[in-house]
Amino acid sequence: MRPVEATNTRVHEVRDPKQGFIPVTQPYLPPLEEFEPYLEEIWQRKWVTNNGVFHQQLEAALCDYLGVEHLSLFSNGTLALITALQALKITGEVITTPFSFVATTHALHWNGIKPVFVDIDPVSMNMDAGKIEAAITPQTTALLPVHVYANPCDVERIESIADTYGLRVIYDAAHAFGVRVRERSVLDYGDMSVLSFHGTKVFNTFEGGAIVCRDAKTKRRIDNLKNFGFVDETTVVAPGINGKMNEVQAAFGLLQLKHMERVSVARARIDARYREAFAGVCGLVMHEVPAHCTKNHAYFPVLVTPEFPVSRDDLYAELRAHEVAARRYFYPLISEFPTYRGLPSAVPENLPVATRISREVLCLPIYPTLEPQDQQRVIDVVLACAQRRGTC
Ligand SMILES: *Cc1c(COP(=O)(O)O)cnc(C)c1O
Repeated sequence: MRPVEATNTRVHEVRDPKQGFIPVTQPYLPPLEEFEPYLEEIWQRKWVTNNGVFHQQLEAALCDYLGVEHLSLFSNGTLALITALQALKITGEVITTPFSFVATTHALHWNGIKPVFVDIDPVSMNMDAGKIEAAITPQTTALLPVHVYANPCDVERIESIADTYGLRVIYDAAHAFGVRVRERSVLDYGDMSVLSFHGTKVFNTFEGGAIVCRDAKTKRRIDNLKNFGFVDETTVVAPGINGKMNEVQAAFGLLQLKHMERVSVARARIDARYREAFAGVCGLVMHEVPAHCTKNHAYFPVLVTPEFPVSRDDLYAELRAHEVAARRYFYPLISEFPTYRGLPSAVPENLPVATRISREVLCLPIYPTLEPQDQQRVIDVVLACAQRRGTC
């Protein structure tokens, strides 16, 4: 009989613990006994959601940690994105990137907004700021760029374009927890930035998210919108949604924050080990974050270019054969999914760089508890492929 775990797992992720399956990521979970006192407090208070005590504490702690002034917690990042667009009353067309997690564009769709895809920059893999102006039409109201792999977008150039054309900017900063651009939080750019605290992210509350905005009035509006539009017991001022973070999530976030230093050090060590092992490997291009930005090592993407002896998909399969679950983030492009592929901006001729990179990119396992000998297994498989005869 098949083990229950295997039947509940997607086919390509069937895992055999004996062999030491290595996932692409694993949520960081502090020791359980450290979480128990928080749960006891919740049980005593019986205040389980709706801007509870831990919720208020986590908003304050995150503002402090991230260096921002106004932050609203959400039950997940997708609802935060949807609500950010509502809060700014965005309509018409929004310019965005096809090289992201699908929720970025879904948030536009759920607001009845038409996504307009522009190509990405081949080095940063973020929306190419040089291609934004050509995509602007009279219907354009906002830009929705993504700091992909926590590498900040060209925030200054985007700001200048937005100012010139009178557009709003919402950053999908789901990857960019804690990142700074020249001493300033990356979340401080644009009208709003949206974070995700999903289990796969650098800072997680199992599920969770937040909107960072610029002033107290806007935060109040966001807080109303995430609570059905209520401003007091009997007044509903807008067709809001239920996007509230509960007390268990918030408590877990408070505990998680205490461990962030450890998480960062562990991620940096794994990142450094990969860079050392792959330096000089022909045809394998590692992603670099510019020197004026800090790194959170959320992902370890590599480009498997034609000079590498095997294709991206062959390397992916080879890793799978060795129980290593590398992931092809982001493949397919969002613009290739059925909902979006009919859009004029979704044609591959409009997105040559994103199309190529989505065929070459592979994210290797990185998470704080990845053991050195397990990382070595990943490295060994990649280096074994690299030693087959390439074109370099
Ligand atoms: C994770 C992620 C989201 C969605 O966040 P959830 O908290 O999972 O809803 C949105 N955009 C990007 C780029 C993401 O990586």
